[in-house]
Amino acid sequence: MRLDITEDDECFRRAARDWLADNVPAAPAPYDGQPARDYALDWLATCHAGGWSGLGWPREYGGQGAPGEKLILWYEEYVRARAPSVLDCTFVAVNHAGPTLIALGSDAQKAFHLPRILEGRSVWCQGFSEPGAGSDLASLAATGRVEGDEIVVNGQKIWTSFADIADYQELLIRTDPDQDRHRGLSWVICDMTAPGITVRPIRNMAGVTHFAEVFYDDVRIPLSNVVGGLHDGWRTAMTTLGFERRTAAMGVQLALSIKVEDLIARAEPAPGSATAERLADLRAEAAALRAMTYRTVFRDSATSSDGSLMRLVFAELAQRIAQASMDILGAEALTDTPPTHDYLEAYSETIAGGTAEIQRNIIAERILGLPRS
Ligand SMILES: Cc1cc2nc3c(=O)[nH]c(=O)nc-3n(C[C@H](O)[C@H](O)[C@H](O)COP(=O)(O)OP(=O)(O)OC[C@H]3O[C@@H](n4cnc5c(N)ncnc54)[C@H](O)[C@@H]3O)c2cc1C
Repeated sequence: MRLDITEDDECFRRAARDWLADNVPAAPAPYDGQPARDYALDWLATCHAGGWSGLGWPREYGGQGAPGEKLILWYEEYVRARAPSVLDCTFVAVNHAGPTLIALGSDAQKAFHLPRILEGRSVWCQGFSEPGAGSDLASLAATGRVEGDEIVVNGQKIWTSFADIADYQELLIRTDPDQDRHRGLSWVICDMTAPGITVRPIRNMAGVTHFAEVFYDDVRIPLSNVVGGLHDGWRTAMTTLGFERRTAAMGVQLALSIKVEDLIARAEPAPGSATAERLADLRAEAAALRAMTYRTVFRDSATSSDGSLMRLVFAELAQRIAQASMDILGAEALTDTPPTHDYLEAYSETIAGGTAEIQRNIIAERILGLPRS
């Protein structure tokens, strides 16, 4: 672990700051649908042309092979420049589908998909959750019947973010019904244009359709699309979730500090007032989250329980900041789209990517060593 900033780091930071100043789009990102897809892919293509996409990916797969400290510097500059949220429709592809393929994909899968992802030419979604399988993912019921060199998929997924605008899906299905729970699953690359797929967008209370139900009716997927071995999909899924729960959300976590600073600038609280005290607490909590983020990045042995700790602190802090924005800005917040939108969206933070209760269970068992209930 290295705590000092070297001359080389400073050069990198300046290069990132200058590039972002020249390239961050002036127009805000559209919230959903085809305009959101076009905007996100354009921005990723711009980053790629500038040599800033896939910073953490190995060089042999088109990335920059940047170590953790460079990633931190990049995301600090990224959020400072108010660059587009990293949680857009390219997030799954860049942050966990790509890394999963790098770790467990075949040469053909890597050769086809990795350049498309980094160059901003494909959108991926994650098809894990089902109506009866969210926190208890291993109880999933969508089936894949092996027929010759194909898998025939039937069933349903739900809450699939960006399914309506995705090209490919990380699809987790039960391919061996004789095996129980974690066994007999397969992680396959599903082409979202395959016949038999129906996507039904779900509108959330913020009025946007970020996620969808996906139905599979005899969808044929080549066996060569299995990643990490037939019936061995649980191992692949844990690899995917490992990327999702560790450092993938670094950009979103660091962005919370900027939200607090923006709120302080807008609220102009009187020194010593209750509002000033509340904002000071939020500033301190955001700084603590940044410190946790750095610690996870620098620790070589970061585990999924570190990810749970960060995910929980992030989710609850995001909700407190959103609530504070509404309370402090008052009527101004209601006529101002981002705070209202952020406030309504923040409710999902303690559900998406594993609920707060599930994160607390993991922390209790794996960090505190408490007995399983
Ligand atoms: C904005 C958003 C985007 C999402 N995007 C995707 C996506 O792209 N792909 C995807 O596959 N999924 C996605 N999800 C789904 C998400 O992963 C699930 O919602 C989450 O895992 C919870 O599962 P569930 O909704 O089935 O709730 P359930 O598992 O049914 O839980 C219901 C309640 O019971 C509690 N509970 C359940 N089990 C326990 C337990 N053992 N101990 C204590 N409490 C428990 C939960 O905390 C929760 O409060 C998304 C969700 C949201 C909100």
